[in-house]
Amino acid sequence: MNWKTDLRAADLGNDVRLELTCKRCGAVRFLSPDVILAHHSGRHLYLDQVEVRARCKQRGCNGPMRMALVRKREASGFVGGIA
Ligand SMILES: [Zn+2]
Repeated sequence: MNWKTDLRAADLGNDVRLELTCKRCGAVRFLSPDVILAHHSGRHLYLDQVEVRARCKQRGCNGPMRMALVRKREASGFVGGIA
C-alpha cells in the first residue's frame, strides 16, 4: 500500500501535478489531475492504475512510466507532502 493505491485523481487538489518519468528512456512529462479526470475512465482509477496505464510518448519508446506527486507551489513554504 502507498499513496498511489489510496488516491484517485479526484482526490488531488489543484496545487499538485503528477510527474511521469519513463523507466526506459528517462523522458519526463507532467500530468494535471484535470487531464486524468477528462478521460471517461480516469475518475474511477486509482493512481497506481493510472501509472500502470501510462506509456512514454517518445517516438518509438512506449516505455513504462514511474509516477511521482509534485506540488506546484514550491515557494509557498509547504513542507512535506505525500510523494
Ligand atoms: Zn521513454
